[in-house]
Amino acid sequence: MSEERHIPGPPSELADTLNHWRELFQRKHSEDFEALKGLTGMEDPIFSFLVDYADIDDDDLLSLRFNEYPEQTVEQANEVLRSMCSEHTDVRCVLRPLFFPDEKLKHVSSLRMRNRGELVSLVVKIQDVGPRLGYLKKALYTCIACGHREEVPQRVARERKRPIGPCRVCLEDAQQTLGEQFSYSLYKRLDSLLQLTAEGSFYQDIQYLNVHDAIAPDEQPIQIIIDDEYVDRHKPGETIRINGVVYIDPIPDRNFVKDTRRILQVRALSIEQVS
Ligand SMILES: [Zn+2]
Repeated sequence: MSEERHIPGPPSELADTLNHWRELFQRKHSEDFEALKGLTGMEDPIFSFLVDYADIDDDDLLSLRFNEYPEQTVEQANEVLRSMCSEHTDVRCVLRPLFFPDEKLKHVSSLRMRNRGELVSLVVKIQDVGPRLGYLKKALYTCIACGHREEVPQRVARERKRPIGPCRVCLEDAQQTLGEQFSYSLYKRLDSLLQLTAEGSFYQDIQYLNVHDAIAPDEQPIQIIIDDEYVDRHKPGETIRINGVVYIDPIPDRNFVKDTRRILQVRALSIEQVS
């Protein structure tokens, strides 16, 4: 996946996607909202919102968006869930799309670089489970002069990204006051006002699994990235079905930063227990 993969289309398309998710949840998941009413974030920090792939597929817009931009579309669904659930509970709801159709089933050995960004389903046996890690998923930057805050989404295993340009509030202020006298050095100074704030930044639990294709254990394994409630839930030897997105990642033990070699990974969107 490229570093800057953005979603094309007018803002109304985003609004439509959010509305379609909201409508699907209202139509198919009233029981989940009922179940959430008794839960608190202290006891159950995460609630898996299990959504049938067929329900997504029945909605033309969601089906298109989910297949084209799976991760962004799931993030948008999570946004909708956040606003819908906040009335009932402080538990964090996480969308887990399940029951991918058989046409998504692939063998590990058939995956190639050209498959990156695609939705796939793999039946695999866990070889080993990596340590529990955290990654900075959303960095919060705060302006030390005016207190303006900006959130910057981050990617796993990539350099941390800063907001683009200086604090907007201070920049406008300075431009209005100084007009023509506004200088580049002042711009640079304003840029340094935005600083990473640990409190308010969001860290997500993740874990890497090394897995083999369940029916071809002698072939090359692949790395799976799992997150949130799936972390620390699985053991070597288990057979699971991973529904996820094909990622490419720099090789883990690269010894120079701009190494161009890449490996394939699958970012799990959901996991089904097989045995
Ligand atoms: Zn500012």
